[in-house]
Amino acid sequence: MASITRALRPLCRTTPSFRMAARRPLPSHLARSTHAFSTTSRRRDVDLSSLTPTPITLLSETESMMADTVSKFAQEQIGPKVRDMDEAEAMDPAIVEQLFEQGLMSIEVPEEYGGAGMNFTSAIVAIEELARIDPSVSVMVDVHNTLVNTAILKYGDAQARRTWLPKLATGTVGSFCLSEPASGSDAFALQTKAEKLSDGYKLNGSKMWITNAMESGVFIVFANLDPSQGYKGITAFIVEKDTPGFSIAKKEKKLGIRASSTCVLNFDDVVIPKSNLLGEEGQGYKYAISVLNEGRIGIAAQMTGLALGAWENAARYVWNDRRQFGQLIGTFQGMQHQLAQAYTEIAAARALVYNAARKKEAGQDFVQDAAMAKLYASQVAGRVSGSAVEWMGGMGFVREGIAEKMFRDSKIGAIYEGTSNIQLQTIAKLLQKQYTN
Ligand SMILES: Cc1cc2nc3c(=O)[nH]c(=O)nc-3n(C[C@H](O)[C@H](O)[C@H](O)COP(=O)(O)OP(=O)(O)OC[C@H]3O[C@@H](n4cnc5c(N)ncnc54)[C@H](O)[C@@H]3O)c2cc1C
Repeated sequence: MASITRALRPLCRTTPSFRMAARRPLPSHLARSTHAFSTTSRRRDVDLSSLTPTPITLLSETESMMADTVSKFAQEQIGPKVRDMDEAEAMDPAIVEQLFEQGLMSIEVPEEYGGAGMNFTSAIVAIEELARIDPSVSVMVDVHNTLVNTAILKYGDAQARRTWLPKLATGTVGSFCLSEPASGSDAFALQTKAEKLSDGYKLNGSKMWITNAMESGVFIVFANLDPSQGYKGITAFIVEKDTPGFSIAKKEKKLGIRASSTCVLNFDDVVIPKSNLLGEEGQGYKYAISVLNEGRIGIAAQMTGLALGAWENAARYVWNDRRQFGQLIGTFQGMQHQLAQAYTEIAAARALVYNAARKKEAGQDFVQDAAMAKLYASQVAGRVSGSAVEWMGGMGFVREGIAEKMFRDSKIGAIYEGTSNIQLQTIAKLLQKQYTN
């Protein structure tokens, strides 16, 4: 099968993300009056006054083709394996190989490093389409692209980019290692320590809940180089799987996204060269915050894809297969209203996700938008996938189709990359700042 992203490259080079049109700026009193309806609107890096507004969910030709081709790939290649991978609690290595072949593991990585050189929304679209079929495969692609590749692209120097990005584009999976047994929501209370050596660094400590760990060859690890400085000592390092002293201590058995590996990692006198420092010493907390802000949009996309997949699966059943009282169950008004309500909520969540992605691409502040998208999309995914189980009755409850799996998978959206309470905290803090005199 030809690579999806390679086929889209010529389009991606010529198609702008936004159509530009001449438009006079609003008079200042009108511009101010829009303030109350905008989110995180104080910074204006980009002059958007000349843009013609389009529907938020309108995709460029490249993005649209990305959605179609990933959807086809997910249905044909991943779909038949979803149930077995969930039961086995393991990702099929052939799927991982195909993700690389299709160029889905380096969507935003520039072509000079072997990536597809596409935009952020293309990655979001791919994550969403994969989650519609399997949220486990989706999170593998999400973490690899939006956290690992992004961290190296944004903060790695020229040598780091040349060393790591081609590997991450062609066959080496990546993990992002921040959480620890004693630091989850309070991530920067991390205990893993780094010690400076004459020609490198030595790491000691452990990490918990690390996605992709069983498949990964490259780990971005946050450790404190100077605990006397508190969170300002946190530094990012790159550790390769075969480094002596590095080990996978445990693979978690989980409620959902069971094919996605989640592991405890140990670092026991792990010595790495100087060149494996990512960016600058003491800047790790800033890198983690910035990368996770973007990553949250990816998780929000995973959740909207999951919600849509669960809804579609149930909709097909109630409108085509199952009859009671002499008619298809989806033709009862009580069912129709629930299906319509759920679809409306999915559409609202998608609007938040695409708005956050577009604001990020436009260089605007998007932190509040990303938090709102993740919060709401995970709530919608939970509600819709739960209802979908009920709409299918007993058939939704058994481990044959995907209804019960989507319901189980939905729960993680409110936990990783910042729990729902943490998203609410971010949203409230930014609102308070905006509304405090
Ligand atoms: C499947 C899975 C994959 C993961 N993948 C990764 C990964 O790849 N890399 C990585 O670094 N981490 C990963 N994580 C970790 C994840 O980010 C954390 O689980 C998450 O940040 C929550 O931390 P915690 O589990 O320690 O919960 P806790 O922080 O203990 O929170 C428990 C509860 O307390 C609430 N709470 C905590 N503090 C506050 C507060 N100040 N105000 C209000 N409520 C609060 C939380 O909202 C939550 O409801 C993963 C986790 C899971 C389950």
